[in-house]
Amino acid sequence: LADITRAEETLDPEDWDELRALGHRMIDDMFAYLSSVRTRPAWQPVPAEIKEQLDEPLPLDQRDAAEVYEEFKRHVLPYPTGNIHPRFWGWVKGTGTPLGMLADMLASGMNANILGHDQSAALVETQVIKWLAELLGMPRESSGVLVSGGTTANLIALTVARNARAGFDVRARGLQHAEAQPLVLYASTETHSCAQKAVELLGLGNESLRRIHVNKDYQIDIEALRGAVARDRADGCKPFCVIGNAGTVNTGAVDDLTALAAFCREEELWFHVDGAFGALAALAPSLKAMVAGMEEADSIAFDLHKWMYLPYEAGCVLVRDAGAHRATFALTPSYLKPTARGIAAGGLTFAERGIQLSRGFRALKVWMSLKTHGARLFGRLIEQNVRQARYLGELVESHARLELLAPVSLNIVCFRFRVAGLSEAELNALNEEILLRVQESGVAVPSSTQLGESFALRVAITNHRSRLSDFELLVEAVTNIGEAVLRS
Ligand SMILES: *Cc1c(COP(=O)(O)O)cnc(C)c1O
Repeated sequence: LADITRAEETLDPEDWDELRALGHRMIDDMFAYLSSVRTRPAWQPVPAEIKEQLDEPLPLDQRDAAEVYEEFKRHVLPYPTGNIHPRFWGWVKGTGTPLGMLADMLASGMNANILGHDQSAALVETQVIKWLAELLGMPRESSGVLVSGGTTANLIALTVARNARAGFDVRARGLQHAEAQPLVLYASTETHSCAQKAVELLGLGNESLRRIHVNKDYQIDIEALRGAVARDRADGCKPFCVIGNAGTVNTGAVDDLTALAAFCREEELWFHVDGAFGALAALAPSLKAMVAGMEEADSIAFDLHKWMYLPYEAGCVLVRDAGAHRATFALTPSYLKPTARGIAAGGLTFAERGIQLSRGFRALKVWMSLKTHGARLFGRLIEQNVRQARYLGELVESHARLELLAPVSLNIVCFRFRVAGLSEAELNALNEEILLRVQESGVAVPSSTQLGESFALRVAITNHRSRLSDFELLVEAVTNIGEAVLRS
């Protein structure tokens, strides 16, 4: 009984005005931080003493939020990944937007959980999925769901493909029964590693993913694909899916999606497109033709945190056959049953389209951003990035010390510093050293990849803050550092 009389507690502030004032300060500080991003290094390592500060005993007692915020400003904020910077072009990382940041705050304030149900947040997500389907040329009645990113989006799509095309009830029987034919699927050697993660998780095994070689433009060789499918059929395997790339991670290559769509129709294979960033090229009138054929896909996986620049995390999967999508994930235990009226009337629309049950309101930043900026501005920014990639390609080609290592098809430029008379191994070591010094200089962040025998400096532009002059600075940094490494 003593316990019943104890004062009840909550996580709400005792003094709302005080927390509100702190919140306003946080917003002011973040705007100052974002608007001055260009004045800071693109990246800097986390100093040893900060790493120590970030390894502390578990806090057991209360502290002032303002004090903790000061620690955030000292220990966390100054050492970001760098991808908000105008000269960050490593891997494929989007920039984020100030409006997206605010939308995430609003979403967090509402703290909506979108399994489905009769609530505005589910309607916002439904709306966003329809808009995205329209932008990518998929039917408006396609099914879709927002997810954490491209990896999850690809996993979900490939799960639907497996279940829809296995020829037996995978959900009931799994893949282990004796009469199951080995299921196999196809993708080019340039396909992102998340496809391997997916087939491993799906119980198909890495060997089920047949890697088909590419042509000189890094596109899947369709004749080789045709041969592989025929061989697998002759060997008693069951081909079920082809993954086409709209923008490969190494070079930005786009497979011939129209030809792949036709091939999949002929062979009755599921046609999936990994368009993590490249699918968004469909938003730009001048680039749309490059991804033609994507709209014939059975499923498309793509990110909104890459080439739509929205804050992490936001990816999307679209599935043409809504029934197949639902049939893969729907489960309705009694505690989740829809009701005729009341909050559960809408059912579990979104929980039935993927892995997650509880899901956050990532749709809000997409909805607010599309409504505020308009799809056309996103299209122009995507075009701008492609123009910048071509400009960098030209700078590289016109510089005696630089060499382009792959065609610039979309927004990725692979190049290296070259010196006559050096072996491939020496050039690779030299360029790796250049890469690390450029990153450490804080001037810019490219990343790298291996193309054939060659180590390439790799610039992937999904950045709405970059300007042409930023690429001139990169070329200057690479060539100056290259000469310095040669002298050292
Ligand atoms: C980034 C990327 C992925 C994975 O997406 P995440 O959002 O990082 O999970 C898959 N495919 C391609 C082509 C990518 O560029």
